[in-house]
Amino acid sequence: MGLKAISAPRIFDGKQYHSNAALVWNDEHIHSIVPISELNDNIEHQHFADALIAPGFIDIQVNGGGGVMFNNDITPTGIEVICSAHRKHGTAYLLPTLISSTPERIQLALNATQQGIRDKIAGLLGVHLEGPWLNKDKKGAHDPNLFYAPSVDDLSQFTWPSQGKVLVTAAVENIEPSALRWMKEHNFTLSCGHSNAKASQLTEDKLVLVDGFTHLFNAMSPFEGREPGVVGTALNTDRAWCSIITDNIHVHPQSFLLAHKAKPQGKMLIVTDAMATVGSEKDYFELDGEVISVVDNKLVNSRGNLAGAHIGMDESVANVIEWGIAEDEALKMASTYPAQALQCDKLGTLEDGFRASATVLDREYRSQAVLVDGKLY
Ligand SMILES: [Zn+2]
Repeated sequence: MGLKAISAPRIFDGKQYHSNAALVWNDEHIHSIVPISELNDNIEHQHFADALIAPGFIDIQVNGGGGVMFNNDITPTGIEVICSAHRKHGTAYLLPTLISSTPERIQLALNATQQGIRDKIAGLLGVHLEGPWLNKDKKGAHDPNLFYAPSVDDLSQFTWPSQGKVLVTAAVENIEPSALRWMKEHNFTLSCGHSNAKASQLTEDKLVLVDGFTHLFNAMSPFEGREPGVVGTALNTDRAWCSIITDNIHVHPQSFLLAHKAKPQGKMLIVTDAMATVGSEKDYFELDGEVISVVDNKLVNSRGNLAGAHIGMDESVANVIEWGIAEDEALKMASTYPAQALQCDKLGTLEDGFRASATVLDREYRSQAVLVDGKLY
């Protein structure tokens, strides 16, 4: 395979901007960033006028897309449909996210992920298990009848994927330190979420094992003067990242901006928490036998409760820029920081030798094209 390139008036490489530049790659890896004027004639090359090329977006919480819910189609084919739907919104890589389910179906999700990675499904980075190890008092759209606190024995019963990332969202207060340690020993990324912990329940021996906090502010005990809750602990634990949904529905822009000020740079990252309706004509889906539909851009169940988000990564990035976050920081929140959160080598910035992955955006930050491991979509 020879060299290929895309070019645009602006490239942001995750650290700095390049004007009138081209991103050149060789097979699956980045070769260089060069001025367009220096591009060799025999390089296959596509120019995007009026566009910005950024490191490929990484969404670590995607429940569905393209009409498919991962929970309802736990197969490599289902994963492929979801990845493809999210590419329309600039997402290069994602973690298909299983909402609380039975142990049998969790095993199916782990198997489908392993198979998908072997089959090289474009954009598949691993799997996110959101529950069923959650707190009933912060169940969100999950079925609390499925919740339990796993022991080391329970965790060892599963056959875990040997490739790809495993992210677990769990209510840390309910789980024995031994089980949390087991997850860390197996290189899982551990995020506290759907948690009703008081700050005092997130003891140092547990907190030290927590890498992050899932969809900050949503489904967690709030920050109050006398009780910092999970929100306060998340904001005050510098080492840990916080994911956040920026659809202007789940979190008020002011709360987002305040949290962004509180966290050290690099520790706030955007997730969509998207459902089947994203990248699809369908405006409803079923979860655990319940119909969830889009009403005024919100996904709600029959009781009117929020049940995930109807938004893509590109729109999420556009929102935070509109709320006052600098463009480069917004782009890093969608790529560089999630790559760091999952400890993905060679993703999140456009550097020589890194995986050839990029997101091309127009002036309004709508996705124009996505590059995944050297293939342009
Ligand atoms: Zn959730």
